[in-house]
Amino acid sequence: MVDSIEQALADGAIAAERGAQMIEWRIDRIAADQSDAAESIVNQSPLPCIVTCRAAWEGGEFEGDEPTRLAALERAGLNQPAYLDIELAAYQRSANLRQKVHLVVDHDKQVRSTSTGLILSSHDFQRRPSDLIRRVAAMAEAPACRVIKLAWRARSLRDNLEAFELLRAAHKPTIALCMGPFGLASRVLAGKFGALLTFAGLDDDSVTAPGQVGLETIKRLYRWDSLGPRTQVFGVIGWPVEHSMSPAIHNAGFDETGFDGVYLPMPIPDQWESFKATLGAWLDYKPLDFRGASVTIPHKHHLLRFGEENSARINPLARQIGAANTLWVDDCGQLHIDNTDYAAALDPVCQALGRGRDEIADLEVAVIGAGGAARAVVAGYAHHGASVTVYNRTLERAEQLATSLASDEQRGSITAAPLEALAGAHATVFINCTPIGMHPKTQATPLPELPRAINSDAIVFDTIYNPIETRLLADARAAGAKVISGLEMFVRQGAAQFERWTGQSAPVERFAEVLREQLASL
Ligand code: NAP
Repeated sequence: MVDSIEQALADGAIAAERGAQMIEWRIDRIAADQSDAAESIVNQSPLPCIVTCRAAWEGGEFEGDEPTRLAALERAGLNQPAYLDIELAAYQRSANLRQKVHLVVDHDKQVRSTSTGLILSSHDFQRRPSDLIRRVAAMAEAPACRVIKLAWRARSLRDNLEAFELLRAAHKPTIALCMGPFGLASRVLAGKFGALLTFAGLDDDSVTAPGQVGLETIKRLYRWDSLGPRTQVFGVIGWPVEHSMSPAIHNAGFDETGFDGVYLPMPIPDQWESFKATLGAWLDYKPLDFRGASVTIPHKHHLLRFGEENSARINPLARQIGAANTLWVDDCGQLHIDNTDYAAALDPVCQALGRGRDEIADLEVAVIGAGGAARAVVAGYAHHGASVTVYNRTLERAEQLATSLASDEQRGSITAAPLEALAGAHATVFINCTPIGMHPKTQATPLPELPRAINSDAIVFDTIYNPIETRLLADARAAGAKVISGLEMFVRQGAAQFERWTGQSAPVERFAEVLREQLASL
């Protein structure tokens, strides 16, 4: 967005340094009284450029009259930018505008020598326009139009699929983008579907359209330069999901292993109908190569239901837990569903004890909390033969958990107890599954008085990962116990997903490093 020559050229230099391949100069703010500045900027642009003066009636910032806007575009156009962007509505409305624009862009009847191409564009900041297809046809049929550009606000993840379909069907170079929080996939996957380009801001805070992200985010986090027609797509489904750390770890994992994949946040509102319709549509759209997802709150039970209704192969323990967090599609198109949380909570303890999963029948485990995380943890330990006591503030919830998990396959026992009884617990393993001690209340602990059992034989495991070392872990470490952080659980559940999706070992060291970086930047 141009305010002055100096600022624009300084920003342009940064864009070039960060790896942009083209610059769009938005001259909305200067077109009325500094159109000579626009000419200088085009002349000195460090990269091939697009010149756009977006009118306020199309969502831009230019408030002046059409003759002034046209004059500014014409002057900039004479300096031969790579492209001039004109709104389809303006182009269709005014013969005068068409005539003037045709003087400066390249087309069949052009007599001057110019290489500038015409982008005809259409934007809707509210919704998918009902006449979208007619707009595309009008652009396609306009002989002077070299590039078709469509942008509209996505109302759900499903809108992205229509953008991909427009790109696939296009006979001219095309840009098809969805705006807003549901549209990120269209921006990241533009290259996979052969779009002319995607737009990015200089950074995440200086963007020119809703849902646009910064250059570094699209290039480094979302791997823009590595994506191609065969890239497999994965994501994290949740609501809300924008603060999830999973895109950072999985995309770093794809980089590290050279796997041709990309992992996106996938916001789906919390109703079952939204989940079913969106996931179904993404799985059905084969050109997307959508091959798997992490599923988090509030959709973990929806994933199981989806699996039941779509003949997925479901891990029986996930069914028993009543929640699943992992979806993958194998090469034959078969859906698989699993819960990687329980193993991620079981294996670090087995490793600390130097035992296998089936060698813990004598283990006494105290689980603190009876929510969603506790459910997976308790099921995993009890299934493998340990004696688990669930300590919870609301005793009935702990009792419910114990009753609902009881099954014939369960080898261990599950007992419910009130939270106050925890101080006298005789366990070897203590696992906190409550948010007590989580950022920002880092001085809180579920065990203000450490039970006597917490000594050098004990293992204390906090599922919280922010902070990595909670007060509970610091106290336990001081008492001589072995400690395990929630970071390890997070890394392991993600690693198990990565391995199912890619068939490769996950780079767990890299996952942990990325997670630490993410936590440090909060
Ligand atoms: P949840 O379903 O809301 O359950 C929270 C549990 O904590 C409930 O049993 C609740 O007791 C108890 N609780 C909450 N505040 C309390 C307080 N002030 N005093 C006493 N008990 C309290 O949450 P969740 O999904 O199970 O998640 C719990 C924690 O697990 C999260 O905070 C997260 O840090 C951790 N987690 C970590 C990972 C990982 O990969 N490392 C994965 C998932 C979750 P009541 O029943 O009495 O309300």
